[in-house]
Amino acid sequence: MSKQRFPLIAANWKMNLLRTEAEQLVASIVNNGPYNAEVAFAPPFLYIPRVGEIIESNSGFFLAAQNCSNHNFGAYTGEVAAAMLSDCKVSMVILGHSERRSIFNESDEWINKKLIAAIDHELIPILCCGEDLEQRNSNRHREVVGQQLERCLSGISADKLQKLVIAYEPVWAIGTGLTARPEQAQEMHAFIRSKLERFHPGPLASGTRILYGGSVKPQNAAELLECNDIDGALVGGASLNADDFTGILRAL
Ligand code: PEP
Repeated sequence: MSKQRFPLIAANWKMNLLRTEAEQLVASIVNNGPYNAEVAFAPPFLYIPRVGEIIESNSGFFLAAQNCSNHNFGAYTGEVAAAMLSDCKVSMVILGHSERRSIFNESDEWINKKLIAAIDHELIPILCCGEDLEQRNSNRHREVVGQQLERCLSGISADKLQKLVIAYEPVWAIGTGLTARPEQAQEMHAFIRSKLERFHPGPLASGTRILYGGSVKPQNAAELLECNDIDGALVGGASLNADDFTGILRAL
């Protein structure tokens, strides 16, 4: 069956690159387009306006943020509100990345509040989920991911989740060079879709894009992206190099 969902490839730069490097990277990727996918750049907050200027008149490219606050405005030193991101032409926001969960102690309940704030301000959330190595080795990966989804999506109606993107990112594959085998990834993506269907019976599950993340490179992108339930990729390390990132985009 051919996929009806348009692919999305998102670049998560994390806390990398100086401004001129960022400018060159985006310009090079944009100039090599168009691609058979939507392409989102998630630079550090400071670079968002500049990256926005470079991609501005090119369709198919989107600005994303790596995080947002669950609060609206006020005395929250160091935080960035969803309303501010929307106001600066950001269209997507990565939420619940495993680094935020493990380094900054973000809980599913907290991520749920961020999701609500993001949706309320017209941002498309890219909700990350995934198990660690110990959980995978003890065969608890489905249980762990199912629980993350249930808690992160709690109380949000299907109507509000129309544009939701989910990224399945096994923690043991992030930045490690280890990649889930296509059949392992496909199995989890199908599981995630079935969970969504269980939470919200109807068209939501079949329309939701589920990205794979974890050491995606030009060499392994095609075999992952051709799986039925894999609708794109969230790319960390390989998104910092124009040749590697365009190699992944060309794999589509
Ligand atoms: C990520 O951090 O979301 C990620 C997938 O990183 P990498 O591609 O480097 O594994």
